[in-house]
Amino acid sequence: MIQIQHVSKLFERNGVKNQALNDLSLTVDDGDIFGVIGYSGAGKSTLIRMVNALERPTSGKVVVDGRDVSSLNYRKLRSFKKQIGMVFQHFNLLESKTVFGNVSIPLVLESKSKEEIKERVTELLEFVGLSDKAGSYPDELSGGQKQRVGIARALALNPSILLCDEATSALDPKTTDQILDLLKNINTKYKITILLITHEMTVIQKICNHVAVMEKGKIIERGSVFDVFGHPKQKTTRDFVRSVIRDNVPASIHQTLESAHDARTFKIEFIGDSATKPLIDALIKQFRITVNIVFANMSEIQGKTIGHMVISVKGAPAEINAAVSFLQQQGTAVKEVN
Ligand code: ADP
Repeated sequence: MIQIQHVSKLFERNGVKNQALNDLSLTVDDGDIFGVIGYSGAGKSTLIRMVNALERPTSGKVVVDGRDVSSLNYRKLRSFKKQIGMVFQHFNLLESKTVFGNVSIPLVLESKSKEEIKERVTELLEFVGLSDKAGSYPDELSGGQKQRVGIARALALNPSILLCDEATSALDPKTTDQILDLLKNINTKYKITILLITHEMTVIQKICNHVAVMEKGKIIERGSVFDVFGHPKQKTTRDFVRSVIRDNVPASIHQTLESAHDARTFKIEFIGDSATKPLIDALIKQFRITVNIVFANMSEIQGKTIGHMVISVKGAPAEINAAVSFLQQQGTAVKEVN
């Protein structure tokens, strides 16, 4: 378990102070995939670097599996760091070494025998799908392949925690998906806890179970990915969610709506179970109204559905009000839009 307890970090350079983390607390349970999202400068890198003691808190504590990281002496810190693998945005590979050579670095530093190194590296390269690239150099690889090497190297010493610092930010969308699948596979197969930082909500959507949104060195919102996507509370969170789930009516549709004076327009939000009920069908059958769907969008989050729909409704006011009550009883959020 990773526990960040009231951690603050104040950088001071040439008399200029920078509060990168401000009394931040966070717990990541064993086996979780936990994502921290925030814009550039929010303090994400500083936070993740605290976990493997690359940065030390100005105040507060970082406790990993019951051990206070900042209290460890050099020898204990070295052994502690073995349980944490790190994956970087720009891969951090040694250009002068082959793929095999790069993945073997942590094993060489641990003075493992040649046989052990060969066996482990072969196994890791097979796992990340790069068996045929063992003798290649980094400049002969694509971005996705380089990141696979970075991941294999991070796994070399069988860590219990994997830290991912914007691991897919330098990759195209298709390669990003493949790397995210690999990370998910690592979490499932080896039960490795993953803490990742990102500025992309699609990364959170695709693999995380829990998310924390960071701003100005603080966590402004946190929870299960489904809850945060379904009910974002802070503006920054809503902006991030909107980058994945479109709930705004496109401008062209707005114009059409404005010209239809005799209709009323409602925005409906379906979350979880309500997304799979045939509600529009029920509306048309049970109420004397006409329903026109003007916009709809469905997204899958952690295997559940979040949907947004805008409908334009015509009918007597009492019928429309009864229809809205019916939708609300069915567990949807309904809002009239003008
Ligand atoms: P993020 O990863 O969210 O972009 P960072 O953790 O890199 O954010 O940075 C948070 C703030 O701390 C920024 O204002 C940044 O300039 C500052 N910062 C980070 N590292 C240092 C450092 N070594 N010295 C001085 N300021 C730093």
